[in-house]
Amino acid sequence: MPVHNTATMPTKIPVKGKPTCTTCPSFLTGRVQQDNLGTTIGSPVCGRKMLPLVAPRQSKDAASRALEHTASNCKWHNEIVRLDPLRATDAPNLSVGMDTNKAEQTLEDVTSRPDCLSCGNYVSAAKVQQEYGWTSPLCRATGSIMLEGRLERYAEKCGSYAARQPHHPIPSNALGSFTLLPAFSDTFGKVNEASAYKQLLDNYVDPKDWPTERPVTAKFAEAGIRAWRKIVDPDGYGEDVYLPIFDGSIFPENERALIPQATDSEAPHLYADHGGIIYTMAVLWMKLDDTPAAWGQGGVGKTELARHLAWLMQIPFHRIVINSASEIDDIGGKMLFKNNQTVPHYGRLARAWKSIGLCLLDEPNTGPADI
Ligand code: SF4
Ligand code: SF4
Repeated sequence: MPVHNTATMPTKIPVKGKPTCTTCPSFLTGRVQQDNLGTTIGSPVCGRKMLPLVAPRQSKDAASRALEHTASNCKWHNEIVRLDPLRATDAPNLSVGMDTNKAEQTLEDVTSRPDCLSCGNYVSAAKVQQEYGWTSPLCRATGSIMLEGRLERYAEKCGSYAARQPHHPIPSNALGSFTLLPAFSDTFGKVNEASAYKQLLDNYVDPKDWPTERPVTAKFAEAGIRAWRKIVDPDGYGEDVYLPIFDGSIFPENERALIPQATDSEAPHLYADHGGIIYTMAVLWMKLDDTPAAWGQGGVGKTELARHLAWLMQIPFHRIVINSASEIDDIGGKMLFKNNQTVPHYGRLARAWKSIGLCLLDEPNTGPADI
């Protein structure tokens, strides 16, 4: 646990981005646990709350959701703390779960001094590691990981747990009825796709009415941008990106007819972005000035993604379908002799490229070699 001189430091460490325990001074990595507690449980611990923060075998995504959830509900996030000296010797209650059979356990007469190693609630470090990955023993009665080397202290404190401690002469090591706290599950905090989709429909706002999420400067207003829409990094790691929303009245009538609307039979507003692809597209366009390419089996939603993006930005959607009969003159263009001179005649792709809009080149790999 880093010990800070609070007299000379600010009480909070300023950190950019979403709050997460990993940026907090109370976040104890294995090495810091070893230095300050004399042992490690095999996963990070909050030194302030004495709380295991993630399960060793939790997926990276679930672990970061758990760390963000804990930090965003924590009033001590990023506060400079001093390790309570008691913690260095005490028997902290490192809760990780509960015994679902607790209510059925019978209270045995505890006449002798409790002893973890001969207690039916004691689960050895080897068994805990095999089942969950933590490298310390666990008490089923309290649902806590116990620091190795302090078992006597846990047993001493155990008097207060008398109502839930069936002491048996032979440790059973059973974890059958033991259930981990939800924060340690692999699905913790995962968005339920059905409810996310319903939320999307409930919160549906037409882009024409979307209020700008950052000021529209005179330069962009002149280019036809009415508002900016914030696209948040779904994984919480990157920076937010802004997509422009155009004022439809800047387009000539024939182009305006190509702007996808919620009333269209394709229903572009109903696209559900399960994979955070809109953020990827927005980064490619707005940050990297790159042209995205999407690959996938027919029906996975590549075209609908493009249509939805055009709907979000309220720009014309040009879909150019390539097949074996496509001609380069039609797609790219050709030279024409007009008014006594040779002039370029732009094809559909070149015309779409030159104007404001979203141009989808569908299945270019199926066209003739020159395309
Ligand atoms: S639980 Fe709170 S105090 Fe502990 S590491 Fe997380 S943010 Fe920091
Ligand atoms: S803390 Fe008490 S109930 Fe838990 S293993 Fe030790 S003696 Fe048993």
